[in-house]
Amino acid sequence: MTIEHFFSQLRFVLVDTSHPGNVGAAARAIKTMGFGQLYLVNPRYDNVLSHPDAIAFASGAQDVLERACVVRTIEEALTGCQFVAAVSARLREFSPPVIDARAFGKRLVADSQQKSALVFGSERYGLPNQIVIDSHVLINIPTDATYSSLNLAQAIQILAYEARLAIMSAVALPNVPDATISVGFRGESATSEQIDGMYDHLEQALTHVGFLDADNPKKLMPRLKRMFSRTQLEVEEVNIMRGIARKILGLKN
Ligand code: SAH
Repeated sequence: MTIEHFFSQLRFVLVDTSHPGNVGAAARAIKTMGFGQLYLVNPRYDNVLSHPDAIAFASGAQDVLERACVVRTIEEALTGCQFVAAVSARLREFSPPVIDARAFGKRLVADSQQKSALVFGSERYGLPNQIVIDSHVLINIPTDATYSSLNLAQAIQILAYEARLAIMSAVALPNVPDATISVGFRGESATSEQIDGMYDHLEQALTHVGFLDADNPKKLMPRLKRMFSRTQLEVEEVNIMRGIARKILGLKN
């Protein structure tokens, strides 16, 4: 299963959107998180995708705007979707089960064969009750009780971010071995002061043998730091590296 597959399984549906700027900002929010499918149901302006505000707010996400679909009904926007989540600032008396954005992300990756949709309401009125009732779940972003209404594109950003995190942890992370599991035994972890001391020592040693040119160090130390930072250094290991540095520094030029 490729990571692209997961990103292609989710579409963002905006119902009755008024402000072209929000449509542009939505395209940007979606694209930054790796998604690309935007559907607009009955936007206030028919030409919203080419509206100057939409283009300005999309910034570098013009391609998502260009590929967006403008449709007349919610049914058209949801064609082919097996799982539909209504996203609303308000909880309703008649409502499908309420879940949070994180649970939605888990659901998205749990069944990777399903196409899902997140449906957002208009700036002024939110989502019509009927769309909420017809959805499989309702997602509410917990906010301050006295002011619960996020800007439309910001709500989209939060959902897109959570969906991205869920995809990354389902697809990307299993390939990164967990050092604490794979080594079986762990010694005492080195502190950041101990590790910094090791870097200083190493830098002196590498300079001493002429591997590091102090006048032209390039990116040697940052690269070594990057390498070591992936290893979860232990005290014993820091001591070994310092022992090697000490030995090198003891060498005659
Ligand atoms: N006045 C509207 C708010 C609309 S905000 C109302 O009372 O519902 C535009 C859209 O952004 C909403 O329809 C919803 O999809 C999303 N949104 C805004 N705040 C949200 C929140 N706290 N939780 C979930 N979605 C939210």
